[in-house]
Parts: sequence; C-alpha cells; structure tokens
Amino acid sequence: MTELPRIPASGGCRDTPILKERGQREVFCGLTGIIWLHRKMQDAFFLVVGSRTCAHLLQSAAGVMIFAEPRFGTAILEESDLAGLADAHDELDREVARLLSRRPDIRQLFLVGSCPSEVIKIDLARAAERLSKVHSPHVRVLNYSGSGIETTFTQGEDACLASMVPELATTDARELVLVGALPDVVEDQALGLLEAMGIGQVRCLPARRADAEPAIGPNTVFALTQPFLGDTHAALERRGARHIPAPFPFGDEGTTAWLRAVADEFGVSDEVFESVTAAPRARARKAIAAQAAELNGKSVFFFPDSQLEVPLARFLTRECGMDAIEIGSPFIHKGLVGPDLDLIAPGPVISEGQDVDRQLDRARAAAPDLTVCGLGLANPLEAEGLATKWAIELVFTPVHFYEQAGDLAGLFSRPLRRKAKLKLEAAE
Ligand code: SF4
Repeated sequence: MTELPRIPASGGCRDTPILKERGQREVFCGLTGIIWLHRKMQDAFFLVVGSRTCAHLLQSAAGVMIFAEPRFGTAILEESDLAGLADAHDELDREVARLLSRRPDIRQLFLVGSCPSEVIKIDLARAAERLSKVHSPHVRVLNYSGSGIETTFTQGEDACLASMVPELATTDARELVLVGALPDVVEDQALGLLEAMGIGQVRCLPARRADAEPAIGPNTVFALTQPFLGDTHAALERRGARHIPAPFPFGDEGTTAWLRAVADEFGVSDEVFESVTAAPRARARKAIAAQAAELNGKSVFFFPDSQLEVPLARFLTRECGMDAIEIGSPFIHKGLVGPDLDLIAPGPVISEGQDVDRQLDRARAAAPDLTVCGLGLANPLEAEGLATKWAIELVFTPVHFYEQAGDLAGLFSRPLRRKAKLKLEAAE
C-alpha cells in the first residue's frame, strides 16, 4: 500500500498561534500574474488600464519578443484623460473596438485595473459589462484588479480566475476541475496520472482556450493546484462546487497526498493508485535526494510573498531535511493550506502579513542559511551575506508534481551552492 504522509507525533502547525503583522510590506503587484496567464490562456487578451509604470513593469518582466503578437497591453491613462470620466469610458470603448477588430483570435478580454488614483475612479466592472454586450457572443469581457495597493503578486491570478467563475456554464455532471494555471507540460502530466487511475472528465480552470472551459454545478468537485486561490475557491463554492482539501502537489509527499485525496473522492483502489504512482514517485524521490544532500540540516526563513510559503516549508522540512525558522505568508487560509500545516512539525514562527523592518530584524537575528523573499529584499540581504531565493521564480518555473520535484529542490539548493562557491573563491 502507498505510504502516505504522517502527521508529526507532536502534532502539526495548524493550531500554532499566528503572528499577524499589518505594517509596511514589500511585494510585487497583481499585474505580474498576466505574465504566466497570457501564456496559458491562448485566446485571451489582458488590457491593463493603468499608467506608464504598469506598462514598464509588464514589458520588462515579460520580455516580449518584438515579432510576437502580444496578448497583453496597457491602455495608459494620463491625468488629463479624467477631465471627464465619460471621455475615459469612450476612449476605452474605442481602444477595445480597435483591438478586437485587429485581433479576431481574441475570445476573452480582461480589463485589468491598477492602482493609480485616476484608474481607481473608473468603474471597470461597468465597462466590462457594457463591452461584453457589444462584443458577445464572440468575445467575453471581464474585469479584475491587479492593483499593488490591495494585492500580492499571486492574487492577480486569483482575481482573474474568480472573475471567470460566475460566467462559467452550469452543469449537473459529476466532474473534477483542476484549478490553477500550470504550464501545459505539467498540466498534461497531472491529467495523465488521473486518467491512468480511471478518473475521466477532468477539466482545468483556466483552460487553454475559452471553448474548453469547465462548467460548474452541485456535482462539481475541484482540487486546487496553487495555494493562493482563496477568492476563486470561495467563488466556486458559491456556485455549489465542493473543494477536495489536500496538501499541495509539491515534492513526492505532497503530490502523493494530493493525488490520493482526489483518488479517494473517485473511489480509486489502493492497487491502482500504487501501480500508477510507484514509478514517478521513485523518480521524484531520487531526484529530490540528489539535491537534498545540500539542504539537509540547513535553516530557511520565508518572507511573505508568493503565498506558496506554507506548502514549500512542508516540502523543505519533510523531504529535504531543512529547519524552518519563520514561515511568513501574505495570507494564511487554513481551508487551503491547513493540510500542509498539519504536516509541519511545531517549531517555526508562522506569520501572516508583514511589517518589513521588524521581520528583517528577526531574519538578521536568526541568520538563516537560506532566505526566501521578494526581489526587493533579496539583493540587500545578499549584500549582508545571506543566501536568498527569489520567491517569484517559484511561479515562473515548473515545480508541481513528481517530475518537477527535483527541480523544485534544486531551486533552493542552488543559492546555497553559489554561496559556498563564492566563499571558496574568496578564500583562494
Ligand atoms: S498596478 Fe500599481 S504597483 Fe502595479 S505597476 Fe501599476 S502602478 Fe505599479
């Protein structure tokens, strides 16, 4: 029988008191999600209604090739555009009409709000409703906010998917929906494993194309592949769908527990489960072991950034032998990360939100071997001699499920190797 993760004898961290901080924070804004979402949703376009800063962020982060037909753009609003808000709406309507006449391949258009005060004054929900009426049925227009005022960078994906849920068709069919934007190759691996277990009719949100989107109803069950989808989770439950809680599919243990939770929902036998997972599981263990030698016994400190912190701490402490000092996350939603918290042995500080100066003091005092943080903190901390891992890399790199487990561990061992090498070179 497949060995499943055991809760530590001393109990997990689900009931550990959470240090809640509500001070200054250092994170990217939710527009960042467009970079992976536009690759995933092949007939969608993301029109950011924002400032030149927003346009620069997207251009530099996405590194758009000049010969590619981009699937995102920025409608830049200047102060003068708001002399009359009616003008701003007219201008937006004209821009959208121009875009859609030039790009008949677009089936879904997202109007993405940002944080300049001029933009906040525009009612993008009303604009999306108006434009949807004009351009349906060929194009559906939705809106969400990627503003840096109210989001961390992964909340952009959550807001995007949550905006889609009310528009999805209704069904009574018993179907499984995988929720979270995974690279196609990783999604195909997950679908392959589920199919091999005999679990059919699996749909994905987001789908690669609008016409493959799932329908939702009271017999829909869904499994999240990303821990930052709290609003999407709530929106799906409002439609009557039921969540399958599980640790997130990072590493051998996480992937096995996630698959097992889904398999149990569909009555898959232990024998079938074992025969489907044994080989990829052995490959994952071997690949993790190759990296874990460098991680074993080292300490790690998580600043709140990607919302992947809790599942990653579970992976690093249980599968790579690391000691977590602090696990900081922008939000701790126990309905989502509770099963991962159950598996983390008590000891680390669990913190939610941020007060960056206080947290920096704690990190400096703890002098961790590895600090996982946002880009803005990484360079200064490196200059102070700490090895860091940019949290944002964890969403740009395929890290889910068995075949990526070694790469996931490698993301954490690399900075330690680099630091050791630099020390060696300095000593020579
Ligand atoms: S949404 Fe706000 S934080 Fe993000 S790039 Fe635009 S101005 Fe900057």
